[in-house]
Amino acid sequence: MSITKSRTVTHRTTEWDSHMETDNALTNAATDPSLFGVLTFTGDVMLRRLPAEVFEKLQQTMRRGLPLDPAIANTVAVAMKDWALEHGCTHYCHWFQPLTGATAEKHDAFLKPDGQGGAIAEFSGDQLIRGEPDASSFPSGGIRDTYEARGYTAWDATSPAFILKTPDGATLSIPTAFVSWTGDALDKKTPLLRSIEVISTHAMRILKIFGAGDGVSQVITTLGCEQEYFLVDEEFINQRMDLRICGRTLIGAPSPKGHQLDDHYFGSIPERVLAFMTEAEQRLYELGIPISTRHNEVAPGQYEIAPTFENANVATDHQMLTMHILRTVARHHGFVCLMHEKPFAGINGSGKHNNWSIATDTGVNLLDPRDETHTNMQFLVYLTAVIRAVDRHADLLRASIASAGNDHRLGANEAPPAIISIFLGDMLTDILDQIEKGERTSTLSRAELDLGARTLPNIPRHSSDRNRTSPFAFTGNKFEFRAVGSNASIAWPNTLLNTIIAESLDFMATELEQRLGENASKEKIEKVVSDLLKEVITKHRRVVFNGDNYSDEWRQEAERRGLPNITNSAEALAVLDSQRAKDIFTKYGVLNNDELKARVKVLREQYNTIVCIEARTLVSMIKTEVHPAGLRYQSELAETVSATQAAGLACPDTVELLTQLISLNGELSSAVREIENHLSPEFPDLVQEANHVRKNLIPAMEQTRVIADALEQITPDDLWPLPTYAEMLFIR
Ligand code: ADP
Ligand code: MG
Repeated sequence: MSITKSRTVTHRTTEWDSHMETDNALTNAATDPSLFGVLTFTGDVMLRRLPAEVFEKLQQTMRRGLPLDPAIANTVAVAMKDWALEHGCTHYCHWFQPLTGATAEKHDAFLKPDGQGGAIAEFSGDQLIRGEPDASSFPSGGIRDTYEARGYTAWDATSPAFILKTPDGATLSIPTAFVSWTGDALDKKTPLLRSIEVISTHAMRILKIFGAGDGVSQVITTLGCEQEYFLVDEEFINQRMDLRICGRTLIGAPSPKGHQLDDHYFGSIPERVLAFMTEAEQRLYELGIPISTRHNEVAPGQYEIAPTFENANVATDHQMLTMHILRTVARHHGFVCLMHEKPFAGINGSGKHNNWSIATDTGVNLLDPRDETHTNMQFLVYLTAVIRAVDRHADLLRASIASAGNDHRLGANEAPPAIISIFLGDMLTDILDQIEKGERTSTLSRAELDLGARTLPNIPRHSSDRNRTSPFAFTGNKFEFRAVGSNASIAWPNTLLNTIIAESLDFMATELEQRLGENASKEKIEKVVSDLLKEVITKHRRVVFNGDNYSDEWRQEAERRGLPNITNSAEALAVLDSQRAKDIFTKYGVLNNDELKARVKVLREQYNTIVCIEARTLVSMIKTEVHPAGLRYQSELAETVSATQAAGLACPDTVELLTQLISLNGELSSAVREIENHLSPEFPDLVQEANHVRKNLIPAMEQTRVIADALEQITPDDLWPLPTYAEMLFIR
């Protein structure tokens, strides 16, 4: 019997050795601080290339959030162009983030004909400030029809321009916002920037109440995102249509070993992986992205990278770039970097921990509790505003992270559940108790840990333990929104987070301003703030939960507390249709009704389309690879049985195996027909389609998977056409 396809499972030693040589030849931005950010137009580069007054004006916009003076655009453009040409750039592009969730760029050449048979390099202030890509082919959620194609990109001077190098050239990339001719936002950046501004407006009011606003011109949100990902050998990906097209395995029996032994997490990083990380980090350093951490994650083949936090707008651009660099550099090392939330069933999925805080532009973290926390009223007001926001709008937060991919993670056992709750830890929970009782007298101390061996130092311990199971955890001086999917752009979840928190800051500021009146004494402030904290905490502390979020008891307890548990995207997205969602976005000027509607439409389209693509991929794999393998084995076994019986011998075990195989092959055919049936109906609207996808199509795919995985477990390895979990997860 001939085998149509053979699998390569050899280690790619030779190729990876040759990569080692190139790695060593890389400029070492990681060890030479002067190379940090060499490919960004910021800091020193700007200082050296711009006249002092232009530099100063640009800094006012970048650092203090003041409006951009368009008069400086020409000077900046010329300096940027010269700098870019010196780095080998041939093109520039306005780099933006359409509603696809990816990034987009249209390259324009610097060189223009000079009219005398030659060419000159040109780049004007106008070209820097405004671009005009054809908006018609990006999803606009109905804001724009194809015949209304005009869209603009607008320079975001607060995020540094950067040079993206490829082996054959380089492109000056200018971060921009993307809006339609009517001014509606068609991208993820514009609403994010608006949401950051409302946070600032209302957080400043609270600073003022505490007399702490002097010298502060704005409050910024800070963001540091831990990115989890898998690395799988490129050869395996090439042999699996599901990974190539969908980024996740649609079938695949479990490997005998997963992460039961917990031996991968924080384990020593394999050398080939380290070579990849080193190159990726160096490229990120050159782009001014301050990568600080790398380690093995829980699942075999899973890793994490995290930067030092930055202001949220820049951090968001840098996060998109980080994903781009990880994907690109992985290929240099014969890997594919999988960012999908659940590439492999049954083992840990990937998230993106969204570490979020608010700080003054003078560098004070407003969520830092400091030592005598119970006396730190200002901190307690900001903290309480977050608790209130998350309780009032837990369902909106859930909606902000809804995607087909993330559904495999949320609510599944090894990930944060779909119930949004807050972990505060012992110290803060104790303070909440005191506030509720109306007396704040103490802060639980952070004792030292005596390790019991004389040679080891006593170490100070944190005031609360960690809790890895919480979807929204206070981690010392920031909140960590852990339920964000690994593949997502962080712009949208942060837009929502900022908007709901801005609403609570507004509420707290308004209450305090009204109750305090003019020139309130210190005692009065103390009393009024205490009363308000008590009211808000009593009402909203049900969202606080410090226990094991993965447990069944929590599910029941959360239900008793009336917290929403939205287990799938189809339902989560419906929350964004609500009047409450429209009201909050319009009230704070983050999204008008059309802009919101457009986003929900695009998210629904994506959900439906992604699942349908997966279903078609699965059908194709089963029909052309898996089922034929099953039938081949069936005929091989049938031959064995008939030859054995012809020799006058009985072979009951083989007959039993054959019977099992015939039945699995039959079930597989019907299961695929079932998927095909569910793929055919047309629906009048996206909501009905999403509900159908969730209720019928996804279960049919899951059922097919169960049969295919059972078949895989009895089919001879040489007949099985696909790389297995054990190969993909353990060969590196
Ligand atoms: P862990 O989550 O494992 O405790 P870290 O404490 O190192 O890890 O923080 C993880 C991420 O949180 C890093 O990207 C870090 O820069 C970021 N982070 C730390 N402080 C803040 C802050 N004030 N605002 C936003 N992000 C922060
Ligand atoms: Mg973390």
